[in-house]
Amino acid sequence: MSSDNTKLQWKGYAVHDTKHPDQLKVTEFKPKVFEDKDIDIKIEYCGVCGSDIHTITGGWGEVKLPLIAGHEITGHVVRVGSKVTEFKVGDRVGVGAHVGSCYSCQRCQGGAENYCLKAIHTYNSVYPDGTVSQGGYASAIRANELFVFPIPDALSLEQASPMLCAGITAYSPLRTHGAGPGKSVGVIGIGGLGHYALQFAKAMKCDKADALALGANDFVDTGDKDWAKKWTDTFDLILCTVNVSQHIPLNDIFLTLKVHGRCIMLALPDDALPPISSFSLTASGVLLGGSLIGSKAEILEMLALAAKEGVKSYIEVLPMKEVGKAIQGMKAGKVRYRYVLKADI
Ligand SMILES: [Zn+2]
Ligand SMILES: [Zn+2]
Repeated sequence: MSSDNTKLQWKGYAVHDTKHPDQLKVTEFKPKVFEDKDIDIKIEYCGVCGSDIHTITGGWGEVKLPLIAGHEITGHVVRVGSKVTEFKVGDRVGVGAHVGSCYSCQRCQGGAENYCLKAIHTYNSVYPDGTVSQGGYASAIRANELFVFPIPDALSLEQASPMLCAGITAYSPLRTHGAGPGKSVGVIGIGGLGHYALQFAKAMKCDKADALALGANDFVDTGDKDWAKKWTDTFDLILCTVNVSQHIPLNDIFLTLKVHGRCIMLALPDDALPPISSFSLTASGVLLGGSLIGSKAEILEMLALAAKEGVKSYIEVLPMKEVGKAIQGMKAGKVRYRYVLKADI
């Protein structure tokens, strides 16, 4: 395998204009200064996440152009810093939605580094040295070892890629909210997140893991006003993965929960949630919450479970140069269920 002094190229497919997010150009960039806990990775695959689309279209606010998106990254280690303990050159690894954090706050110290308020996102974040982080539609990435994950031998790199954001986003709330034997889980929206939520709920031996009648694309059009009735008092936990807010029938969703059941929001639509009636929250004593990615400990656990139970990523692999086509497909809701780009630069 490559040695420590491998000459990496630092370039990727960058968006230069949020009005034309599907017109990307190969663009060189400068990574942050290499520090002693950093790892350089030659990228082989990168999944295309809904977050990428929200960001490069400007839906989430300011974009630091030109920007290389992508945060479902797998590849091989080509360089390790002098204080890296977990990895060596040649290891198969992945990087998800973060590449750094403050390492010292209560959240970082307590194993919840994904909630660090100073977390460095894999792209469109600014490092303390002023460098803008650039993502995985690229030749290489540099990340702190806390945010690098070994990929089990039983998982191929293309299968593992989308697990590092979509997979963990579905897995973490299942773990946090007690999914397992005796519990029933409902999943709203069967796309990138939802297809993992169902599989992980089953792998965790939940009694019941159902996709609710509202699909990722068809729920807006549902004319069935009584859909919630057939699920009344059914679920301990509902994971809501749909990527638009305004039509989510939250008050109906609460009806499908058991007493003290929980509804956890996983997607981050550009728009605000619809109004919630306090009556519908109190009627069954339900809780509404959210969840963001997952910690390193959870990611390692998820990858091990996926390897053991045969959890499968439903992916369509495209050469990275076709990233524009993948972005169009995501926007049109065509993908089943994830595009994974194979690096070609
Ligand atoms: Zn922190
Ligand atoms: Zn993501």
